[in-house]
Amino acid sequence: MTYKDTLKEFFGENCLFGEPMSSHTTYRAGGPAEVYLYPQTKEEWSFVLKLARTENIPLRIIGFGSNILVSQNGIGGITCSTKKMDHISLTGDTIQAQAGAALDKVCEMACKAGLSGMEKLSGIPGSVGGAVYMNAGAFGQETFDCLEYFDVIDWEGRPATFLKSDIKYGYRKVEGIENYIILSAGFKLPKGDYTQLIAARNTIQHNRLEKQPLEYPSAGSVFKRPVNDYASRLIDEAGLRGLSIGGAKVSEKHAGFIVNFNRASALDIKLLIDKVRQEVKTKFGVELELEQILWGNFDEAH
Ligand SMILES: Cc1cc2nc3c(=O)[nH]c(=O)nc-3n(C[C@H](O)[C@H](O)[C@H](O)COP(=O)(O)OP(=O)(O)OC[C@H]3O[C@@H](n4cnc5c(N)ncnc54)[C@H](O)[C@@H]3O)c2cc1C
Repeated sequence: MTYKDTLKEFFGENCLFGEPMSSHTTYRAGGPAEVYLYPQTKEEWSFVLKLARTENIPLRIIGFGSNILVSQNGIGGITCSTKKMDHISLTGDTIQAQAGAALDKVCEMACKAGLSGMEKLSGIPGSVGGAVYMNAGAFGQETFDCLEYFDVIDWEGRPATFLKSDIKYGYRKVEGIENYIILSAGFKLPKGDYTQLIAARNTIQHNRLEKQPLEYPSAGSVFKRPVNDYASRLIDEAGLRGLSIGGAKVSEKHAGFIVNFNRASALDIKLLIDKVRQEVKTKFGVELELEQILWGNFDEAH
């Protein structure tokens, strides 16, 4: 029996083969995942982690795929989605959410309960696990600002809980987190004014619609903010707004985004990322750091 047969037998319909990653990433591009799984319980996670370890198979975790670019020839090994772990509950001033719950739903629940601290994260299209992993943030608010704890399982299958105070984090960065799979998180939130919170959430959602190219597939800002500057400003001033390669384009609406405007391949997107980086480096001497995560082999891009 191959490792794939073993997984199919254990996971049944929650085990897919050759699943196109264009269906699981917001770029809507990228080739197939060799094995695509939906583990939901600690036992299921332990099972797949043990199998991957003993058979030496690469294993990746995906939330909503809103910060990942997968190469056109796809990814080998096992890709585990948290999407079916999406329970959210509110107890007093704390919201507990499973890793695959939508961050935006948590923000909505917080605002409706008159709890503050997450309203500015409204509209980030990621999962709770992805938001913790990246310390996602917007408009001066970050996931870790209101995070109380998060539950994990390590690659050996051992569960643990971390308090925020155990972890070093910063702008779009959480140290040591790559050693763990995030299963759930708790957000402890101070009381706020219901009307103001709902109004703030609406304003943020409106700003996003107005300023971001939400009409096209993308994975948000391509690059991290350079110190004391904005990647979008540098890209714009380098004259790159609207530049396209194949079906990928530097958004005319927000130069920090690359959009898939016409059935772009992952290679189109990667070539455009490289071009933008190179032009900004030549014109301003600034090395833009990628915020998005690349999966698979992009060697064909060079
Ligand atoms: C239109 C648009 C707007 C955006 N705006 C913002 C914004 O304002 N601010 C911002 O910060 N980001 C923004 N993003 C980017 C993205 O939504 C965030 O980075 C988000 O936190 C990613 O979550 P995800 O679930 O999609 O993660 P994925 O893209 O699925 O994964 C990202 C990384 O997290 C890891 N990961 C995911 N879940 C887990 C888990 N449970 N355990 C361990 N590792 C995990 C993955 O392995 C991968 O390395 C935007 C994206 C889009 C498309």
